[in-house]
Amino acid sequence: MDSLPAAGAGLCAGAAFLAWAVRGRSAAVFGKSRWRGSPERRALALTFDDGPSESTPAILQVLAQYRVPATFFQVGANVDRLPDIARAVATAGHAIGNHSYAHPLFCFRSPAFIEADLRRAQQTIRAHTGIEPEWFRAPYGVRWFGMGRAQQRLSLTGVMWSAIGRDWRLNSAQVFGRLANGARNGAILCLHDGRELQMRPDINETVEAVRRLIPALLERGYRLQTVSELLCPKS
Ligand SMILES: [Zn+2]
Repeated sequence: MDSLPAAGAGLCAGAAFLAWAVRGRSAAVFGKSRWRGSPERRALALTFDDGPSESTPAILQVLAQYRVPATFFQVGANVDRLPDIARAVATAGHAIGNHSYAHPLFCFRSPAFIEADLRRAQQTIRAHTGIEPEWFRAPYGVRWFGMGRAQQRLSLTGVMWSAIGRDWRLNSAQVFGRLANGARNGAILCLHDGRELQMRPDINETVEAVRRLIPALLERGYRLQTVSELLCPKS
């Protein structure tokens, strides 16, 4: 999830510049980061954080129904817990990104801690899915000192989002409204197929929102692409 704990938010937001550097979607102070694709192409990317969870297959089913790809930013600890579901995401042809190993708040953590966590996630995801992630999404969208170097060493590029569903808190109609409203050329839409490290999280509102959102986006003429296709188009 991306709701920053209040105490952490207060500490991180001590200075306006620092707050922007830490959480601003367009900031790249703590490492290379992207948050949208080209405004010239009628394409956008659906992304799902915090999985795999027991409910990820319900999302995979909707994506399969419309034959559209998505990018799943998996949490290493959840991959260790549910390796078969992590692998099912890869087998279905979706892209997999790194969303840390233990979903920590990286503010005030040491560069060594940050690098060790990202590396462990990278190794876990590769071991269970065969995919070496190229994209990293920071838990809570929080970047910190040392993250840039860790990303560089692991060949990871940061990805934020252009619209976020807040689906850990809102109902499906609200989530749908936020994302339908945020849909535009090059948009990166953020949803969640898990809830941090929770076991058996209730993601029904997310699944419902996705069921409505995908046909609505296709109807409006958007092509749904993975983050790599959106940000690094081959043609
Ligand atoms: Zn998260």
